[in-house]
Amino acid sequence: MKVKNASEIREMIMEIPMENRRVFSIAAHIDHGKSTTADYLLAKAGLMSAETAGEKRMTDSDEEEQERGITIFTSVVVLSYEYTKIDSDGNETKEQYLFQINDTPGHLSFTGEVSRALRGSDGAIILVDALEGMMTQTETNIQLAVGEEACKPVLFINKADRLISELRLKPDEVFGKLDVIANQVNNLVKKVCPKEFRDKWSVTFKDNSVAVGSAKDGWAFTVEILQQKGLTPAVVFEKYQQDDKKWLRENLPLDDALLRMVVQHIPHPGISQQYKIPKIWRGDLNSEAGQALLKADRDGPLLGMITKIFIDPRSKRATLIGRVFSGTLKSDDTIYLVNRRQKQRVKRLGIMEITDILDVPEIPAGNLFALYGFICPAGESFYRDGEPLEGFEKITYAAEPVVSRAISPKKAADLSKLGDVVRTWIMADPTASYNLDDKTKKIVLEGIDPLQIEILITRIDEQVPVDISDPV
Ligand code: GDP
Repeated sequence: MKVKNASEIREMIMEIPMENRRVFSIAAHIDHGKSTTADYLLAKAGLMSAETAGEKRMTDSDEEEQERGITIFTSVVVLSYEYTKIDSDGNETKEQYLFQINDTPGHLSFTGEVSRALRGSDGAIILVDALEGMMTQTETNIQLAVGEEACKPVLFINKADRLISELRLKPDEVFGKLDVIANQVNNLVKKVCPKEFRDKWSVTFKDNSVAVGSAKDGWAFTVEILQQKGLTPAVVFEKYQQDDKKWLRENLPLDDALLRMVVQHIPHPGISQQYKIPKIWRGDLNSEAGQALLKADRDGPLLGMITKIFIDPRSKRATLIGRVFSGTLKSDDTIYLVNRRQKQRVKRLGIMEITDILDVPEIPAGNLFALYGFICPAGESFYRDGEPLEGFEKITYAAEPVVSRAISPKKAADLSKLGDVVRTWIMADPTASYNLDDKTKKIVLEGIDPLQIEILITRIDEQVPVDISDPV
């Protein structure tokens, strides 16, 4: 990976050919190592010092996340990568790639965030803990990513170090365990993927769509990488026996294995939208907009979706994050929100880097964007004002609100302010909902589970102190 300055990033966002762009998510069961992996990538990109990667998890930018040690918000990370292509004669050519990663939370309470990140992505790295194997949230994530949002999967089996140094398994036993995981993932992918890809979307060691490694120790390999370096998996056992993780980090770096898989197997937006659009958009595919959407054409009519509302933990300012699917979004655009039936001016446009915005004047189709100017519920579609188009299909969420809890302002006079604050947080997470009980003057919050409600209330309470009733 190469560290780029702001003007280089800006130019890449606007100019790099579609073929060299990749937009993807990393999806995993909680604690399987997604944040550690994302942070490793950040460290490599120069956004974080190598020593802190693995300890302080930058993608968990919210204090609440740091404290609880779970990823709640989806963070977007932009990376550039020089891909070395090696042909059958061993000739090397280098190509520049631009990656936009939507990091997603692993806890069920934030499944809405996952679904929306996947709506904006073309592929997903399914990350599985080698020891635990496939877990319930792995299954849900594969269903959401591959099934609902047509994101093409690759597999990263993480924490392989534990099989060797903790379980002290023999090589054959390790390979057996890895095979079981790859097969389980594959069986589910086959079951839920779009019908036309049933024989194509498998993850296999043979075609290098499975990587094995340790995010904590910073290494991973695919079969191709081992072959190119004239190595066998035995080298990993050897290096752990010699306690030489440094060798593994230097010779089999994690980023190479993951990003090579992404380049080779995850499609660029112009390919992905050919089958993704008919799944998520019910408009006329033969119309000008339909054709532009299928190609992710930057010169077509503007159509995009807001997939995430990031509320800064300190300033409480809302940043809207989303994807342009067709046309080009400009920093002086006035857009029309399809569901809200509302005109809104963009005040600042750019790309999200963890918690900051890098200003970019134009974001073409097939890219994620971040903007300031207004707030609306996550999941909203928009077109350029005056150029009406059909919005996108609603995002399918994996869970329904079943827990409720009433809150009321400590100061009765704060009721209307409380209403505004609650409304904003529900916009950021529409898997929760609220209503005002007229008799008691309490606001009843409904959510997927007690943790989701608890975190919501903590945030609301920072802005308007509230009394809280027991959960129902
Ligand atoms: P997330 O919930 O998926 O984001 O998981 P985290 O990245 O927060 O990791 C959960 C725990 O697993 C942390 O204690 C990490 O240090 C640990 N961990 C992550 N990757 C590895 C790995 O490759 N090997 C080992 N042994 N531990 C790991």
